Amino acid sequence: MQYEKIQAKTLLSKPIYGDAWFHSNRSMNSYRGCEHGCVYCDGHCQYYRIDNFYTHIRVKENAPQVLRQELERARFKSQNKMQSETLVRFLSDREKTKALDTGPRKIIVGISGGVSDAYQQAEEKYQITRQVLETLYDFRLPVFILTKSNLVLRDLDLLKEIHKQAFVSVCFSITLYNEEIQKIFEPKSSATWERFEALKQIRKAGMYGGVMAYPTIPTVGDTPENMESLAKEAKNAGAEFILFSGMTLKPGRQKDYFFNVIRRRVPQVYDHLQQIYANNHTYGYPIVELLPVNPGLQGRRVCQKVGISDRSVRHMPPGEPEANIEIINRLLDLVYYRQIILGKPRNFWKPYQELAIKIEKGVEDLKTLADKGVLKTQLGISSKIARVVTQILQTGTFDALIRTQDELDTFATEFNV
Ligand code: SF4
Repeated sequence: MQYEKIQAKTLLSKPIYGDAWFHSNRSMNSYRGCEHGCVYCDGHCQYYRIDNFYTHIRVKENAPQVLRQELERARFKSQNKMQSETLVRFLSDREKTKALDTGPRKIIVGISGGVSDAYQQAEEKYQITRQVLETLYDFRLPVFILTKSNLVLRDLDLLKEIHKQAFVSVCFSITLYNEEIQKIFEPKSSATWERFEALKQIRKAGMYGGVMAYPTIPTVGDTPENMESLAKEAKNAGAEFILFSGMTLKPGRQKDYFFNVIRRRVPQVYDHLQQIYANNHTYGYPIVELLPVNPGLQGRRVCQKVGISDRSVRHMPPGEPEANIEIINRLLDLVYYRQIILGKPRNFWKPYQELAIKIEKGVEDLKTLADKGVLKTQLGISSKIARVVTQILQTGTFDALIRTQDELDTFATEFNV
């Protein structure tokens, strides 16, 4: 394994709004490359331009410092209290903290991005993620972690402290229940049972957490046995949800490597998988008609059977009105079901996502606006969308979402999922 220390120029992604999958609105990577070596990893594709992705790990040595600078800039900018960044530099740490305490706290940092796991083996040695958490603690910011490693438990003390003052949500990516098969596809991550055990401890410590069960590998991970076992274990571990979704394989490095491993280790499914991905779709989408099951639909059925939610949850960042988060959650449920699972065109979910984005960017307490009867004028939305907001406030759901959930359940019955 080759480790190379590098200096990051920037760290935080641009703001991400209306994301129906993850519970963060900024992401960052402390490393480039990932030694967990998952055979299906999207970060391995040429698009990210990381050569020797699994064996050459770039360590962003200065990540905590760069993060601190970026957060200071973002926070003071959003507060609009400081006239210039020059002035910020002359404040003592105490003065900065005091100023930060009065500001809005809407940044939720996701500390595992698409091209690395924040708790891969390199973290044992370099502890960049630990330092990043310390920085976030100083800023009293919420944290979202997605990992395949139980090394996250090393930082339990610190995570508990962050959770006390903001919140922490730790999701484990867990895709395969059978340990033998899991080791083929995720050779160097923690074992499946270790991840469930870690999730249990996170939940016992009072933090939020769930399971992202994707990619659900066609013909390998989409069997009822695998999906049900994962859902049951997730429930046993106290997960708030388990989210199933399919696998993309982009042509080139990612797809070639995947099929090389399949040929050697699981030859019995090679031909079938080759057919499913024969289209060489630019974004790696499979030929849907050839999939054994729709993993989202199957996942919903499994979740209903086991009694666990099939949707990821957003929690309330400090300073956010509770009603606003509830409405964002419901709107994004609809976006997820219509876009990801049913594959509906954009016009079927766009207005709801746009409203979620608007709310996420910062609006007044929607309950107060509804009580005053000024939702439409204050938000600049149509009467139809204003009715959606009112209905969620009154009932916790809305007609379009109910119809969509009914549609999903009808599909599942028709296709005997
Ligand atoms: S843990 Fe995530 S980033 Fe790392 S190899 Fe696996 S899929 Fe890729």
